[in-house]
Amino acid sequence: MTTYNFSAGPSSLPTEVMTQITQELTKNQATHMSILEISHRTPQFENILDEAKASLKSLLDLPDNYKVMFLSGGGTTQFEMVPMNLATRLKKIAILDSGNFAHKPIGAAEALNVTVDVPGTTRSIKYRELPHLPAQFDDTQYDYVHLVTNNTIEGTTYHQEDIPDVQHLVADMSSNILAEPYDFKKFDLIFAGAQKNLGIAGITLAIVNQDWLDEQDLSHLAPMQKYQTAIDKDSMYNTPPVFAIYVLNLVLKWIEQSGGIAGLYEKNQRKAHKLYDYLDHSSFFDAMVTGKERSLTNVVFTSGDAKRDAQIAQKASQAGFYNLAGHRSVGGFRASLYNAQPEQAVDDLIAYLKNVEMEYL
Ligand code: PMP
Repeated sequence: MTTYNFSAGPSSLPTEVMTQITQELTKNQATHMSILEISHRTPQFENILDEAKASLKSLLDLPDNYKVMFLSGGGTTQFEMVPMNLATRLKKIAILDSGNFAHKPIGAAEALNVTVDVPGTTRSIKYRELPHLPAQFDDTQYDYVHLVTNNTIEGTTYHQEDIPDVQHLVADMSSNILAEPYDFKKFDLIFAGAQKNLGIAGITLAIVNQDWLDEQDLSHLAPMQKYQTAIDKDSMYNTPPVFAIYVLNLVLKWIEQSGGIAGLYEKNQRKAHKLYDYLDHSSFFDAMVTGKERSLTNVVFTSGDAKRDAQIAQKASQAGFYNLAGHRSVGGFRASLYNAQPEQAVDDLIAYLKNVEMEYL
């Protein structure tokens, strides 16, 4: 039976990457050791780290003043590190409330005595559309504006044309990094856990504009709390998760071979549009997000009855369509279509859902 994993993360890896990991896992031909056994202080690992950094800079088309870091603690630790390192001048930030992953950074910043303003929220419409900055928004009153480019749970995305022009912009790109194009230079800090589009859990990517970081007073921070430590020590101030960075590097090579962001975007658009198109024409299922802010990577939908949705998701897993249940706060279904999700998965899912419709209608 062909099976597909629609998990929102950790999620599917590219088949080619899985094959390579399996082949190389027991022993590397050159070092006679497994990647699971080597020190981070080996030429083999230093090479992996350098390759991964160079690939990211090139895929994201970022100039030299942007510094790439590989950190631990997930996106959740970034909710704390970002205000610690970058809200040192005014101690006041603005966060667009687009849903669940906007709430945690609000709580983290407030716990650090940083004032948080919410210049826009779509809470009253259950986050089915995105909030935007008001026309009279004065960005000089804030250290930065924080937004979540892709809302993993609610299924909405700020696409390139919706990214605001402000002095300093921080983006949580955990669930759509390298899945669609942005002018990445519009952001002064980007972070993303690896476990959706970049590899496996255990490593978090953060990229900062060094010029902006240089303006901050970081004298109150301990070494592990500072981005500058990771930059100066090449992400090896402590022992990094060697295996997670190795997988990240393989995924980045796979992305390059897939035509970079442009190549993946074309494929991601095709996958998502097929599924939305089916949902828009179905008389049984409905997409929960209807406008142009629909996510390409997390498609949320429902049959309109929570109990029935749960039963269908359960039955779908018996047919090989795993992890289709929506997040507990939203319900319904969520099909995560990250970079590694094959187009065939969407074709087969649509065929399966058509059969489900016939059963119920
Ligand atoms: N931001 C977004 C948009 C996410 O989807 C997630 C995790 N699903 C996080 C942050 C938190 O990441 P982590 O669990 O790796 O800390």
